Formats: sequence, C-alpha cells, structure tokens
Amino acid sequence: MPPSLTITHLYPDHLNLYGDTGNLIVLRRRCQWMGIDCIVKVLSMGEVAQAGQSDLYFMGGGQDTDQVAVVADFHQLKYDAIRADTEAGVPFLGVCGGYQLMGHTFLMGNGEETRGLGIINVSTRAPGTEVKQRCIGNLIAEINPTTYADMQTMYATPREIPRTLVGFENHSGQTYLGEGVEPLAKTIAGFGNNAAAAYEGARYKNVFGSYMHGSLLPKNPHFADYLIGLALRRQQPDATLPALADTEELAAHSYAVQRYSQK
Ligand code: GLN
Repeated sequence: MPPSLTITHLYPDHLNLYGDTGNLIVLRRRCQWMGIDCIVKVLSMGEVAQAGQSDLYFMGGGQDTDQVAVVADFHQLKYDAIRADTEAGVPFLGVCGGYQLMGHTFLMGNGEETRGLGIINVSTRAPGTEVKQRCIGNLIAEINPTTYADMQTMYATPREIPRTLVGFENHSGQTYLGEGVEPLAKTIAGFGNNAAAAYEGARYKNVFGSYMHGSLLPKNPHFADYLIGLALRRQQPDATLPALADTEELAAHSYAVQRYSQK
C-alpha cells in the first residue's frame, strides 16, 4: 500500500495572497510523482480542527484585515488541535501573513494589536521609524546549515540540492524571533523577517515560517521535498524520497539566485 499524506490548507478564502495556493499544488503533484497518496483538505472559518488528522498544515498570506478576520475562529475552533499536532512534530508552513499569525502578536500599521496563535515564539509589529517602506522585492536567502543538512538526508540517493531559497516578499510587518526559534535562512538579498535584512523566516520543531511568496515551493523543490519527508517520517522514521529530475524547477531557482543576489 503506498504511503499517504493528508495536507490541511487553512483559510484559503482569506489567506491566499500572491498565489500561495500554488504551494499546495506543488506538494500534491510531488507526492503523486513520488508514488505517495496525497489528500488536500481545506479548513475554513467555522470548521473545527481535529488533532491527529493532518500530516502537514499550510497557511498563506493576507492583508492585515484578512488576518484579523480569522484570529478568533482559529483560537476557538482550531488552536488546541493544531497546537497539539505541531508540538508532536507535524510540519506546518506559514507564509507571510500566515507566518505572522502563527506568532504571539501582530501589531498592525493602524496601531491595532492582534493576538496571534502562539504556535511559534515570534512577534510581529508594524514598521518603526527605521523602515520607510514596505519590505517588497525579490528575496534570496541561504538555508540554515542544520536544516540544510537534514534536507539532504531525505533522499534515497545523495543529490546536490541548492543551499538557497528564492521568493518574493511584500509585507509591512517586521518579525522578531524569540527564545527557542531559529531562523529558516540567512538573507542574501532583500529583507526577510525585518528591515535589518539579516535573516528570513523561522523554524521551531517542524513549524516553518517564511516571507517568501511566489509561490514559495515551485522554485524551491528541495524545501517542498523536505516538508513531505518530515511528514512521511512521522509514519515511517527511515522513509526516504526518490530524487525527481526537477530540471525546470532548479533552472528557475538558479536564474533567480543569479539575477537577484545583489543586495
Ligand atoms: N498583512 C501583512 C503585512 O503587510 C502580511 C502581508 C502578506 O501576507 N503579504 O505585513
């Protein structure tokens, strides 16, 4: 019987900025190519999350108002199950607004503070005087060495995978990592978490936040495989993945790195 993964897509009708749903298309298609059965289920407003029913979560980006719209629903109907799952190691990818919401607070440009979900120890606040503009543009970052080394173990046969992630960012919020959270990557070009432009994204257990839209995964197949591998290894600890050709994906990735690597 082929392995099977259930991916839960949170709030696609509220949090799906800049084609973030493309990440689900990539995950589902790569599972198919690798002979892994994959079901994508949606959890929208008013729907209750059940712990132990999901192998991977995804939450995309949104306008400030979209983020505020989902917070009460998340705390009332989804928090307990998703908190339990992520503490148990279920992978979760949040992009931009989805990333910000996963933290403790999100202080918006109008001064309104939203209580985040507290899934990961980060906080986000509207730009201070040091930021004259939104953080917008192409974003290139070098993957955290620990995560990169673990990514390489996912393949049945060793393969050369990019040390970088590439994407596009557009956010006003400035995110700061707290105790127990490590950066996903070191910024090479663009901003990333905040105007200091030092680091991009975050990782806590198998919870990942990133500011990369694009969507993120089509040009970063190694990250897509990593999420799939982490989910699979909760069922089968020694699971490995076949290496897909990824010719177009990696060509697009290296083009972006070459073209946008100047800060
Ligand atoms: N509304 C948030 C901000 O502007 C996130 C935007 C997004 O998801 N691209 O920072």
